[in-house]
Amino acid sequence: MDAIKTLYKKLGNRTKLNEPLADHTFLKIGGPVDIFYEAETTEVFKKAVIEARKLEIPVTILGDGSNVLISDDGIRGLVLVDRSDKIETLGENTEEIELQKIVKPVYRWESDDKVGTFKYEFKDLDYDESDKPRIRVRLDSGVNLPKALDFLLDNGITGLQWYAGIPGTIGGAIFNNIHGGTHFISEVIDTVTVLDLQGGAHTLGIEELGVDYDKSRFQETREIILNVTFLLYKGDVEKAKFVRYEWAKRKSLQPRNAPGCAFHNLTQEQKDKLGIPTTSAGFVIEHLLKMTGFRIDGAAISKDHHNFIINEGGASAKDYLEVMKMIYNKAKKELGIELVPEIFLLGFDENEIKEFRHPSQIELRKKRLYEIRTVYKDSKKLFSTQKPS
Ligand SMILES: Cc1cc2nc3c(=O)[nH]c(=O)nc-3n(C[C@H](O)[C@H](O)[C@H](O)COP(=O)(O)OP(=O)(O)OC[C@H]3O[C@@H](n4cnc5c(N)ncnc54)[C@H](O)[C@@H]3O)c2cc1C
Repeated sequence: MDAIKTLYKKLGNRTKLNEPLADHTFLKIGGPVDIFYEAETTEVFKKAVIEARKLEIPVTILGDGSNVLISDDGIRGLVLVDRSDKIETLGENTEEIELQKIVKPVYRWESDDKVGTFKYEFKDLDYDESDKPRIRVRLDSGVNLPKALDFLLDNGITGLQWYAGIPGTIGGAIFNNIHGGTHFISEVIDTVTVLDLQGGAHTLGIEELGVDYDKSRFQETREIILNVTFLLYKGDVEKAKFVRYEWAKRKSLQPRNAPGCAFHNLTQEQKDKLGIPTTSAGFVIEHLLKMTGFRIDGAAISKDHHNFIINEGGASAKDYLEVMKMIYNKAKKELGIELVPEIFLLGFDENEIKEFRHPSQIELRKKRLYEIRTVYKDSKKLFSTQKPS
């Protein structure tokens, strides 16, 4: 506890002890953390990490808490909330950016409009803007994604419209390589600057990020994302604004008192095995497992989106985790498929979540590699080694 007190003194008056984390997540679930700090700039964000590590205090980063389930026992060590918010336009330089056409990715998401998933369909809004001039923009990791979208469109910059209606920070978006329809945010990343475990900041190119479906190297390396440089477009702003509006409208049907989808969608192999028309995990939960209305106290499978487990009020992390395990175990027993959590489980004892730490879960993640490679292999041709001076 001495180390916590020392850190408390070093970080100053924005620091709180024993802060309940439920107040900092979409789910409103989570016990207290030993020490809590909200960093307003990258400089103080970095300083807090370095000071905590010197004192051997474990560090957990939170963005907007829209993709996490935090244990009822809370988190030991420091929880650092990232509120850095700088956006910088680095300039257009189409001559030095080697432009090549993106081969349109195959659709990973397959829905079936006859069985109720149509309300989350986005295919009709999709288009290709790879013939447009590129522009580099650097965003701090704490920048709020919906705000970034508005700011960029107001400044004539397109390329992130597919992520309208997704809450969270830029750091959280990169950490899980968010997807919007057929797009992954990695398609437009140029570089990511990180703080490594030794306290050094360095910049990684797109090819070093280990991006995959809902995956980046940061989930394993414990490096901290400080900022991201995107290669966006000087595209058709009015069209992009329409897509943002329409996309967000469709996504607003999704419940907000949940941390997004509980499980990854199925691999192609799992879909084929079950002989169903879609890779949607929500479809499996609704139509094959028939778990509509299933709940444990306040933690319930949403009727609006069966892959969302919502907190209807007063749910504990234990209830929530139990609902996840019921779905996982039923899918394994009755259908012979394993579902992989999409949300991040923080502060739990490894034993409490052993199902989701099994090596087979890692194998399942790897099976998705070919799906994103189709996108990534072609889009990386867009990234020139020459940078504008
Ligand atoms: C209604 C709703 C709809 C959603 N729709 C989608 C969707 O369509 N597609 C999609 O992909 N996701 C979706 N999500 C999930 C979620 O919004 C995204 O994953 C989001 O990017 C998470 O950002 P965050 O700042 O809230 O991260 P948090 O939930 O705060 O953190 C998530 C993880 O990222 C880590 N992290 C955050 N910032 C950093 C950093 N700077 N450095 C290192 N690690 C960091 C945290 O430690 C944690 O492990 C949805 C969620 C909701 C609630």
